[in-house]
Amino acid sequence: MSHYDVLVEGAGPAGATAAYYLAKQGKKVALVDRANFPREKACGGGLCVHIEEFDHIISNWDDFLESRCLRGIVYGPDFTPVDYVSEKPFFYNIRRLKFDNTLVEYAVAEGATLIEGIAVKSFEVNSDNVVTKLRNGEEITSDVIIGAGGSFDMVSRRIRDIENMPMKWRDEDIATALYFEVEVGREYMDRVYGKERVSMAHIKYQNLDGYGWSFSKDTVLNVGIGCPRSIIKKLKKDNPKWDERQYLLDYVDTLKEQGWFPKDIEVTRKMIAGSNIPVGMGMKCTVGDRMLVIGDAGGFVSPLSGEGLYYALDSGRIAAESLDVLFKEGNFEKQSMMLYHNAWSDKWGDDLEWLKVGWNLLMVMPNSLIKYAALDEETKEFFTHMFVGSMPASKIKNKVLALIAKGALKHDFLSHVMGKHEKVPPVSNK
Ligand SMILES: Cc1cc2nc3c(=O)[nH]c(=O)nc-3n(C[C@H](O)[C@H](O)[C@H](O)COP(=O)(O)OP(=O)(O)OC[C@H]3O[C@@H](n4cnc5c(N)ncnc54)[C@H](O)[C@@H]3O)c2cc1C
Repeated sequence: MSHYDVLVEGAGPAGATAAYYLAKQGKKVALVDRANFPREKACGGGLCVHIEEFDHIISNWDDFLESRCLRGIVYGPDFTPVDYVSEKPFFYNIRRLKFDNTLVEYAVAEGATLIEGIAVKSFEVNSDNVVTKLRNGEEITSDVIIGAGGSFDMVSRRIRDIENMPMKWRDEDIATALYFEVEVGREYMDRVYGKERVSMAHIKYQNLDGYGWSFSKDTVLNVGIGCPRSIIKKLKKDNPKWDERQYLLDYVDTLKEQGWFPKDIEVTRKMIAGSNIPVGMGMKCTVGDRMLVIGDAGGFVSPLSGEGLYYALDSGRIAAESLDVLFKEGNFEKQSMMLYHNAWSDKWGDDLEWLKVGWNLLMVMPNSLIKYAALDEETKEFFTHMFVGSMPASKIKNKVLALIAKGALKHDFLSHVMGKHEKVPPVSNK
């Protein structure tokens, strides 16, 4: 039986990053994924500027960067735009097939052992090790296991069980997101999305909670929609014919009408893929004896935009840094593993909560917020940075409170508190 210091279950951005930093410290790491790399993953492929924190990312942009975004347009349900132009990139575009594979290559280059095409079947935590069973019958021992298997990860389920937490996310804390990518050519992209590679979002498209997006890569458009699963379930219950794929196809028609999608490209249902995004602000406990969870497995995604890539990488790095300390102490009991939980919580736990506040405000009073966001350049900048995930909690809190105090949102805010919902006009493309 082979022994590793750490076994990482899942080699997505979270797992590959944890493996990269652990291997860099000299730890013996097994990075296990059920898929063979390169593999595709449903995603918009947008990176917020916090990604600049990672030296191995910014010094290797050429390995995977598709485009730098210098202009963002966010439309409200009544199609009022917040059109923000920036002098420096505030959003980066990658494609997951290449990005994820590159992160795995970085981990392997540092010495991690990649075991691909084989799923982790189960694991047992003992007093002196963790025994992990793979689907091919192989058993691997390690001092610690990291769960990085995405939204329904097996290590997170074990922690939920031990901590008496609900075994899965509530429907309102999971977004269902669908997307497709299509080659449109550089000439189209330069002409329509410009060298500044506009990133676009339509808030509450057809008045449903959530948003649609169109992200411009080098020569490829990435278009999608995301909506809380609770809403989708209700829509289907009320109207069994309602279907999220058609919703995305309707969105494509709107983009065509607005001139943001080539009229001659037909999008078919077969081109559409989807997945779940955990937007519940992180699990209340993310560690146990000899185990911890990172990335989507821990629920680390912006509840406002559904962006999880930065948090996936950062939680992977924080996990590696925490484990470096714990390996020196030789103690992996839950109480010591809390070092990791407290570290991510201190760094961006508050941000996740304030982004949820932002999400709630945007869903109950989208037109008012968009209207105020479009008022001046400073508010546009604030709004766009908040939406793409680069605004710290303290600034979101101060801005929202200042807007309410100034009277800007007072009417809408009080109406909502008093149960009078904003009147959202019907969808129109004017
Ligand atoms: C449609 C859509 C659009 C999105 N758009 C964006 C965006 O634009 N920007 C952004 O920042 N975020 C976006 N996200 C969220 C982002 O995709 C996730 O937050 C991110 O992928 C999380 O990375 P991860 O490494 O935690 O998990 P994943 O990327 O899901 O990787 C998990 C890995 O674990 C493996 N695995 C699972 N179970 C096992 C097992 N038992 N054994 C072995 N391996 C296993 C899987 O094969 C997979 O490779 C989007 C999500 C969706 C669904």
